[in-house]
Amino acid sequence: MSEQRMNQQWRLARRPQGQIRDEDLTWHQEPVGQLADGQVLVRTVYLSIDPTNRIWMSDMDQYMEPVQIGDIMRGGGVGVVEESKHSDFAAGDLVSGMTGWQHYAVVGADELTKLPKDAPVPLEAFITVLNHIGATAYFGLFDIGEPKAGETVVVSAAAGAVGSLVGQLAKNHGCRVVGTAGSDEKCKWLTDELGFDGAINYKTEDVGQALDKHCSDGIDVYFDNVGGAVLDAVLPRLNLKARVPTCGLISSYNATKPVPGPYNYGSILMKRARVEGFIIFDYAPRFPEAMAKLVQWMATGKLKYRSHIVDGLDQAPQGLRDMFAGANIGKVAVKVSDEPAR
Ligand code: NDP
Repeated sequence: MSEQRMNQQWRLARRPQGQIRDEDLTWHQEPVGQLADGQVLVRTVYLSIDPTNRIWMSDMDQYMEPVQIGDIMRGGGVGVVEESKHSDFAAGDLVSGMTGWQHYAVVGADELTKLPKDAPVPLEAFITVLNHIGATAYFGLFDIGEPKAGETVVVSAAAGAVGSLVGQLAKNHGCRVVGTAGSDEKCKWLTDELGFDGAINYKTEDVGQALDKHCSDGIDVYFDNVGGAVLDAVLPRLNLKARVPTCGLISSYNATKPVPGPYNYGSILMKRARVEGFIIFDYAPRFPEAMAKLVQWMATGKLKYRSHIVDGLDQAPQGLRDMFAGANIGKVAVKVSDEPAR
């Protein structure tokens, strides 16, 4: 390994208040670290930008330790092995793991997953679908939502990474699917390209009235990515024994003061609904099951995806801001370096 090779990183400078600002992160350069036995040097190709980056920056109640001030920003990535001191990995292998917001990561071999080089999908698919994103859609919908053919499924942030997959999986399962999203362009993509039965622009429409129109038989499954006002509009329209997988609450991640609870909480009692939160890392042992199905659906044209790729690691904070502004259709990721030839 070249002693002089430099690494660029984003480190957390302070805990953001509201929307993230430039001053919340610092751009840092240092030499790439030396490998110890059992470690692997990974060059990041794609960095995943996720709403949970914002959670990890904060000290709100969360499912992992927050990123500490001064530490490298945590993030998932797909990359190529440059050097290895572990027998399971060799230079040129494609891998995924928590590589962080940096060009190069020195990672323990047990924290990496090797990706197949002969997969019938582009490398980008491992950052947009064949990772925690696809797993979240798959397990959240099927294990927690338990949809049955003919039922009505509503999903919020429907044109985002998770939501766009949830809607397609539910459609393929024989459900009627309605999504909420933040622009007419997104709604058109959902109905015209992904086959949703209806789409509601929650920024310009009365969500309650639109749900009455699109879901005249009520809602059996609400896959919640956002919480807040959309959740409140859904609750009174739930059917008896409805299921609500609570996947995310992005409407509150930038909140600077406590957010009010759902006003229509009583509907959960009256409709005997089940509201269940989940964190996808708990499903890690079952990821191969989801990946096998997702690859198959992609290969047969039953699952489409889009991505919102920002170019260059220096643009990572802007990518996260884009996501909170709803600028993305599909998965937000950063292209950090060139893909290796496959
Ligand atoms: P998306 O690709 O869906 O991007 C986030 C989207 O959220 C934006 O495009 C925007 O779309 C929407 N949004 C932003 N602010 C608001 C708001 N105030 N109210 C309503 N919608 C808003 O991200 P992901 O697919 O990665 O994540 C979706 C959700 O799933 C998040 O809540 C995330 O935390 C959660 N998640 C949970 C996991 C788990 O293990 N439980 C794992 C992965 C994700 P729009 O234009 O429609 O507003």
